[in-house]
Amino acid sequence: MDHFLYRGGELFAEEVAISEIAAKVGTPFYVYSTATLTRHYRLFDEALEGMPHLVCYAMKAASNQAILKVLAGLGAGMDVVSGGEYARAKAAGVPGDRIVFSGIGKTRDEMRLALLGGVRQFNIESEPEMAVLSEVAAGMGVTVPVTVRVNPDVDARTHAKIATGKSENKFGIPIARARAVYARIAALPGLEAIGIDVHIGSQLTELEPFRQAYEKVAELTELLRADGHDIRRLDLGGGLGIPYERSNQAPPLPTEYGALIRQVLGHLGCEIEIEPGRLIAGNAGVMIAEVIYVKSGEGRDFLILDGAMNDLIRPAMYGAHHDIIPVIEPAPGIEQQPYDIVGPVCESGDTFARARMMPPLKGGDLVAFRGAGAYGAVMASEYNTRPLIPEVLVNEHQFAVIRPRPTYDEMINRDKIPVWLNDPPC
Ligand SMILES: *Cc1c(COP(=O)(O)O)cnc(C)c1O
Repeated sequence: MDHFLYRGGELFAEEVAISEIAAKVGTPFYVYSTATLTRHYRLFDEALEGMPHLVCYAMKAASNQAILKVLAGLGAGMDVVSGGEYARAKAAGVPGDRIVFSGIGKTRDEMRLALLGGVRQFNIESEPEMAVLSEVAAGMGVTVPVTVRVNPDVDARTHAKIATGKSENKFGIPIARARAVYARIAALPGLEAIGIDVHIGSQLTELEPFRQAYEKVAELTELLRADGHDIRRLDLGGGLGIPYERSNQAPPLPTEYGALIRQVLGHLGCEIEIEPGRLIAGNAGVMIAEVIYVKSGEGRDFLILDGAMNDLIRPAMYGAHHDIIPVIEPAPGIEQQPYDIVGPVCESGDTFARARMMPPLKGGDLVAFRGAGAYGAVMASEYNTRPLIPEVLVNEHQFAVIRPRPTYDEMINRDKIPVWLNDPPC
């Protein structure tokens, strides 16, 4: 459920008409709903009730500081995958002891940044990284809590680009090597192994892959404890999918996911961490674009929008589906027609949908891309020198621009011309 609904014939974000925001900020733009973010965070939090736990929002899904503040204010921790994300979380006021540092390529500088600013734990993804983190932490005279991200070799049954839990993926340490790695950690200075981490992929639409992975984690917990390691925290990653197509069967709910965790891991008495990103932010945001032209092609009509692949890359990158709806509610029973929905970027890949059935649209009409809150704005670029589009946050009847659209000057003045290209002195 989200808070983007038609009221009196037009689309609203909570209590604010989309057309009102469009008039104020121009198109295209992203708009997020505080109520939906809140609802999704609480679903996870409540699903784990009774077990000690922390919901660490995977901020790479949507990392605007205003969004982080909403979630941190509810009690969320953050899962970060770069020094930049760490700095952003800190800037948004998230305390270090609620920040988990994930990612396979942490550099020494990123480690130092988090060790100085405070960190809940590092999730170690390889033996070379383990050795470097030990060296950096010991060099700073600190001991840092760590988990090892294990690769359980399970098929997440999701898109190949976002599956991370098979042995051929670059993520984690083969689970069969885990005992040897924990033994090495115990002998290294600067590291204290406190738990196990696993994250098998994103946009999972079934619970079964989670069950397989978590059963392996449960088994490993017992083995490591028998080896003398004090395993007291389990980081179970993110990955629960969202319904991108309303017509499809809905993925499992956070309550069902929480019940699975309790069933498979509850008896171990560990603190549970989860790292949901997409499910918290995905349906909490839409992208609004305006139809520039309707162009009749050979046997098809193109809806040419002012939004493009550089603003929302998921269709071009993953062949992803987004429901696209008109901001003005179509009259009931109106005859729909197929459109190829495209952006203005000079690539045929800049296609959001082919032969999508839509009510008749014309230049100047607004459309909303549903489910665009996660991996939308954060993956945008300025390709074709198109300014990054604004982000707006709605809270009941209020709205605010939380990232403005840069001007052309702001964009192009980041280029610096080397002296030898300046006009020669006379
Ligand atoms: C991307 C990622 C997540 C979040 O995945 P979602 O599918 O957005 O829930 C969580 N943990 C790690 C380590 C990730 O890389």
